[in-house]
Amino acid sequence: MFNVVWFKRDLRLRDHAPLQAAVRDGLPVLLVYLFEPAVLAHYDSNPRHWRFVWQSLQDMQQQLTPYQQTIFIANQNAFPFFEQLLLKQAVHSVYSHEETGVRLTFDRDLQLKRLFLNRGVLWREFPQSGIRRGLSHRAGWKDQWFDQIRAPLQHPELAALKSFALPEAAQRALAGPPLPAFLSEQPEGFQPGGETSGWRYLHTFMEKRIEGYLRQISRPAQSRRSCSRLSPYLAWGNLSVRQVFQFAEKQAGMVGNKRNLEQFLSRLRWRDHFIQKFESECRMEFENINPAFNHLRTEVDERLLQAWKDGQTGFPLVDACMRCVKATGYLNFRMRALPVSFLTHTLWQPWQAGAGFLAQQFLD
Ligand SMILES: Cc1cc2nc3c(=O)[nH]c(=O)nc-3n(C[C@H](O)[C@H](O)[C@H](O)COP(=O)(O)OP(=O)(O)OC[C@H]3O[C@@H](n4cnc5c(N)ncnc54)[C@H](O)[C@@H]3O)c2cc1C
Repeated sequence: MFNVVWFKRDLRLRDHAPLQAAVRDGLPVLLVYLFEPAVLAHYDSNPRHWRFVWQSLQDMQQQLTPYQQTIFIANQNAFPFFEQLLLKQAVHSVYSHEETGVRLTFDRDLQLKRLFLNRGVLWREFPQSGIRRGLSHRAGWKDQWFDQIRAPLQHPELAALKSFALPEAAQRALAGPPLPAFLSEQPEGFQPGGETSGWRYLHTFMEKRIEGYLRQISRPAQSRRSCSRLSPYLAWGNLSVRQVFQFAEKQAGMVGNKRNLEQFLSRLRWRDHFIQKFESECRMEFENINPAFNHLRTEVDERLLQAWKDGQTGFPLVDACMRCVKATGYLNFRMRALPVSFLTHTLWQPWQAGAGFLAQQFLD
């Protein structure tokens, strides 16, 4: 028998509770990542995301090589992958992080839950940073978040990891078609994926760049340097929020202006606060939070929408934002808010018409 660690948006080897637990369990472990065609074809997906994931996997693979471990990477949707795996192989448990994703991944996980239950496989899911599943109210959330974020990091003991090698025939059957060729491209202007890059951004931010954090946070150009730029590394799990928070707190002595550090740390909490909202109220992927807005704007003017997407509205700052995010995957907070506000207020378009397009552009 063996266990599976299924990597999703947690592409790191440190502070990884599922991997730590699987190693401690003592059974051999199969490390798996799935490029799921259904997720790659979803309305919010873009090749830039999967390149970042690919780079993250390469980085993990490099770190695993001294331990003679490999990650099995397949081009398959999760349900058929696990269905096929369980048919021929004796899996004891599947370890993963809980995922606060979109409707597609939520439905997939419900299907998988039934599959694992029917096949007698234990699915051990662990919370991502401070996000709590099944919460009926948020009273006390902030205190619990601090407890969680200041708790000891959960580093797996990689030297004790016993690898499970899938038989060659099973590998061939499970791998799926060749991976998309675009994965190994790296267009200029995008942040590179991987734990190593994430740590580099964190170090340079804490050592120097944080000095301009608050002063420049709303400036379109300067903020690209003085903000941490950690968002893709957090989104794809190259770094956990806990790792970043604890590292930053430890470096507090080096930071001249304490307000910069406080504001940065509070934004890490905002991040989990908003993800918690989405976890608890996932209808907001499609619906207005306030139903009073339901009939306000329903018609989409395709001509206006296209001009907005192309950065051709004739409003220079809006157009610059749209062209910039397409070319680099990044905008600071204010420059993200601006085109959304322009789309919904000035062009009077429903937010749903632009949300998927922006989700494709942001690397995070
Ligand atoms: C329309 C719109 C869309 C956005 N989409 C995303 C998105 O897809 N992914 C994403 O991570 N952030 C999103 N944000 C929030 C925010 O703009 C980015 O997190 C931030 O600009 C990332 O840059 P940074 O890592 O340099 O941030 P820093 O200022 O260095 O902050 C550190 C971290 O704190 C978190 N954070 C910072 N600001 C916010 C905020 N306002 N709300 C929630 N968390 C925050 C991020 O994880 C960020 O990496 C969006 C904001 C708006 C207005």
